[in-house]
Amino acid sequence: MRIAGLRPVSCSDGLPGEVCAVLWTQGCPLRCPWCHNPETRDPNGGKKADVETILRDVEKYAVYLDALIVSGGEPLLQPCEELKALARGARGLGLKVVLDTSGFPPDRLGKVISSFDRVALDLKAPLRDDEYMEATGGGMTASDFLKAARIARRRCDLELRITVHPWLDDVPRVVEAVRKASPDVVVVQRYVGDKEVGIDPEELAEKLRESCENVVVRV
Ligand code: SF4
Repeated sequence: MRIAGLRPVSCSDGLPGEVCAVLWTQGCPLRCPWCHNPETRDPNGGKKADVETILRDVEKYAVYLDALIVSGGEPLLQPCEELKALARGARGLGLKVVLDTSGFPPDRLGKVISSFDRVALDLKAPLRDDEYMEATGGGMTASDFLKAARIARRRCDLELRITVHPWLDDVPRVVEAVRKASPDVVVVQRYVGDKEVGIDPEELAEKLRESCENVVVRV
């Protein structure tokens, strides 16, 4: 697979209290205008790494870890068999395995989902196809998101991640989108960039708590 990097120990990328290794895969088919990791989008960037080497690096710190997060870029661009082998190997080290994904393309999510314990799925816009396509640079529709959420929910825990970016400005419709996705946990993340945002993350979290018990704000 192609990777952008590995952080062997992180206390800030998982759910509160989790210690995780984070693998950033290389390549993403989307072009979100607020992308926080643009250097991971080029499918020819980063470097090649085999699954055994990645697992050997994770194993060095496994005793401290709860989970391996496979992030990106978009991990679903990587060969399905390699993703499954990576997840199998991490489980063999006693770790939970988390797929941090846009959910695109959802059919590929269906092919690897049984290897993962949790899917951290991005909600990028309210659920109208044209708005979702604008928020993802034209690659993904709201229907794709809902399909991915359904696939994830059927097979493992669903964490919904919402970055409060400047193009996300309608709290009632975001709340409605979360209700439709029906996640186990919601993580509201702050946008890092130079544009003004129209929603306060704490306010959004308060609204979301009316319909979802487990809502976390990540600073
Ligand atoms: S899904 Fe969007 S935010 Fe994530 S890496 Fe791709 S372009 Fe960037």
